[in-house]
Amino acid sequence: MPQADNTLRVILPGKLIDGVNDKAQEGMAVAIQGSAIRWVGPASETDSLDSGGAGRETIEFPDGTLLAGMFDIHTHTNMPGDGRTGEQVNEDDNDEIRLLRSARNTAAAVASGVTTMCDCGSWNRNGFALKEGLAEGIVEGPRVLVSGPPLTVTGGHLWYMGGEADGVEAVRTMVRSLIKQGADFIKIAASGGSTSTSDPYRAAYSVAELTTIVEEAHNRDRPVLAHCRCTEAINSALDAGVDAILHCSFYDSDGSYRFDQRTAERLAASEIWLNPTMGLGQANRDRLIKIKDERLLTPDEEDRLERSTVSGGNSLAQFSALVKAGVKLVGGSDCGWSYYPFGDFQGEIMSLHAAGLSRLEAIYAGTRSPAAALGIMDSIGTVEPGKEADLLVVNGDPSQDLEHLRDVAAVFKGGRRIATNTQRAALG
Ligand SMILES: [Zn+2]
Repeated sequence: MPQADNTLRVILPGKLIDGVNDKAQEGMAVAIQGSAIRWVGPASETDSLDSGGAGRETIEFPDGTLLAGMFDIHTHTNMPGDGRTGEQVNEDDNDEIRLLRSARNTAAAVASGVTTMCDCGSWNRNGFALKEGLAEGIVEGPRVLVSGPPLTVTGGHLWYMGGEADGVEAVRTMVRSLIKQGADFIKIAASGGSTSTSDPYRAAYSVAELTTIVEEAHNRDRPVLAHCRCTEAINSALDAGVDAILHCSFYDSDGSYRFDQRTAERLAASEIWLNPTMGLGQANRDRLIKIKDERLLTPDEEDRLERSTVSGGNSLAQFSALVKAGVKLVGGSDCGWSYYPFGDFQGEIMSLHAAGLSRLEAIYAGTRSPAAALGIMDSIGTVEPGKEADLLVVNGDPSQDLEHLRDVAAVFKGGRRIATNTQRAALG
């Protein structure tokens, strides 16, 4: 990875959201040196900071707010975010093209302020190769944690990525093989999904298989994230003790939505992180509504807008109730999938606020909570001395209006300043 030089950089933002306090603070400064945050304190005390013989630089953002770089817990870097399905990307593209796309997507993500993200499912060795490319500095991007191909039953959701495994012994071997290849966490398709040969409304794995996956992963300190699109799969994942549930939607086996009070209580009583992926539906609807302003929608588009409006309403009501019940939400866009391109994780953070988190809680769900869920809070997730200097500066105060998160003024990853999307555009 390219290294930051050793200059002491004193950053003076108008406000600081440090990830620890319950409000934005004024009059604060953050000093970074090398790849780390060295000091956080009152701006009036920065003169006494010693650069240890290295150069010194002051960077001022009087109208800006400094916060920890965003962390998107759920992405698919192989996917184009242009509406193509997983099956289409499987058939139209090959691994070389998919890997090049991952490189482009990671560059877009870091320029938008995401300094860490999880790739929750890519083809074959793509995720591992991406990580190696990032480590060598060939590719620009956030820190990327990868699962490799998700574990899935034969013909299950995302089977084409290469992670099919059935039965207790086979799933155990698959987890070991993924860890051998470099998996930072394990992703399970615990129910079906959009993959045509799978059923989103049925649990895919038995509790015995899920428990084996979790035991094997935890034995090697790898967290487990489970994709669950139905109530039955959510309960199996709870039984097995996974660390996070993705989507977590309450559908019965006949495909009908039903809020399940007993499951809600189990989720609230658990320590499991829930990733609602509501920003994805919103991105789809926003796109169709924009098209509708320009021309008539096709019958298929009308149908999709209608179905998405209904399911989006169900999700919002479900997660609003779950937030009141006390569950822990974590931000993950699922970008790359459907019509959600990389570069707007902010949309997911806003959807968490819509479900009842305060603006500050929603920001923390997109910065510190993913780090907590992945067990790496000791190195990232908040603005505290000793942690990696992964920082984001936005114009305005996002704790007053989350829209300011989209107005990115500066991004630092490991102390190194990265060109923002605006700066990249200015270069032409
Ligand atoms: Zn996903």
